Amino acid sequence: MPQLEQQRRLVTEIPGPISTSLMDRRSTAVSAGVGTVVPVFVARVDGGILQDVDGNCLIDLAAGIAVTNVGGSDPQVAGRVADQAQRFTHTCFMVAPYEGYVEVCERLAELTPGSHEKRSALFSTGSEAVENAVKIARTHTGRDAVAVFDHAYHGRTNLTMAMTAKNLPYKQGFGPFAGEVHRAPMSYPFRDPGGMTGEQAAQRAIDKLESQVGGDNLACVVIEPIQGEGGFITPAEGFLPAIADWCRERGIVFVADEVQTGFCRTGAWFACEHEGVVPDLITTAKGIAAGLPLAAVTGRAEIMDSVHAGGLGGTYGGNPVACAAALAAIDVMREQDLPAKAARLGEILTGRLTQLQQECPAIGDVRGRGAMVAIEITEPDGVTPAPAIAARVSAACHADGVLTLTCGTYGNVLRFLPPLVMPEHLLEEALDVLTKALANLTA
Ligand SMILES: *Cc1c(COP(=O)(O)O)cnc(C)c1O
Repeated sequence: MPQLEQQRRLVTEIPGPISTSLMDRRSTAVSAGVGTVVPVFVARVDGGILQDVDGNCLIDLAAGIAVTNVGGSDPQVAGRVADQAQRFTHTCFMVAPYEGYVEVCERLAELTPGSHEKRSALFSTGSEAVENAVKIARTHTGRDAVAVFDHAYHGRTNLTMAMTAKNLPYKQGFGPFAGEVHRAPMSYPFRDPGGMTGEQAAQRAIDKLESQVGGDNLACVVIEPIQGEGGFITPAEGFLPAIADWCRERGIVFVADEVQTGFCRTGAWFACEHEGVVPDLITTAKGIAAGLPLAAVTGRAEIMDSVHAGGLGGTYGGNPVACAAALAAIDVMREQDLPAKAARLGEILTGRLTQLQQECPAIGDVRGRGAMVAIEITEPDGVTPAPAIAARVSAACHADGVLTLTCGTYGNVLRFLPPLVMPEHLLEEALDVLTKALANLTA
């Protein structure tokens, strides 16, 4: 298939007539509980462009929520998926194993932080990986309690809803939730008291957990090295290492939830690497297989092997087609040095957005790492969250052919997650569109 021209092009209003009629069908067939960010139906995705069914070409700053790091139709991924699908689509690894599963686990052992002996178990979704990390940590430690942080997002299953911080839309009306989940304050430099260091923020969290739960009762601490849905909150330097050190002292399993930050997104293979943190367990999903459903828990052999045989698994976990996609995606990430590409896209994003912040009072904060960058939108006082303004700016970007996402506990964060293969000129153009949308706020 010929490459899609890497050019933003609008040929109808957004949404166009074909998308509009599909949205009508959607509303009579699909549950209203399933949301949609932009009401355009997709025809093709390639590089940094998403083409809709009306022929509009949008610049993609979502990458399917940090999933299509290698692009939405990489030829190596497509080829290996097709080849695997022709040989077999499923056996269930627990029934009859296949090499692709083992190979993905070998890659995970090589790529994840730390040179210790590792094992992995494969699943289908990020939530499932997080749940299984908790199961493994509980078995290994013989303890029940789980610590998570303010603004955390860990998924939508019952246990991971309990671990997720934000009520609406993730938890409202869906309780009762799993017990023994305890929440600690996160390091949030933009909103913490001025001058608070990462170490001080860690001590604040540790004091709360020690006094209210007791380190001896904690099976694990689960933390996103940069929070995703919670607003791309990037903890102050020193926070993550201090939490990891405390976990080691107290025999608590330190679990890095790298479902969103993993696989080159932040300019390294995994975000923990930026501060030299080696997690005991790491959960991955999203970027691992270019969108085919695959997730993993990887970690210290003695922890991973503490579970009784048959205790971990699932019908689809480590599906062979998804494993083929992951192996191809990992090859692409290595061959095209996507950590370096993410770092370069990050320089453009952070450089331009920091500049824009000087001119635009609505931008309270610019933060993130690599190609995981966000702006927090505030009232003119520079602190009060302004979710309505964030929504207006995002909608203006959509209307002008740039797919942006919002996030954050207060809904006032605009986040940028380009596919890591995005041509730089497209990212620059998307930032031009954003600049115009922000300028029009005051017009
Ligand atoms: C998306 C996400 C999850 C949940 O993954 P699903 O595949 O949607 O179940 C868990 N943790 C983090 C950090 C995420 O970003």
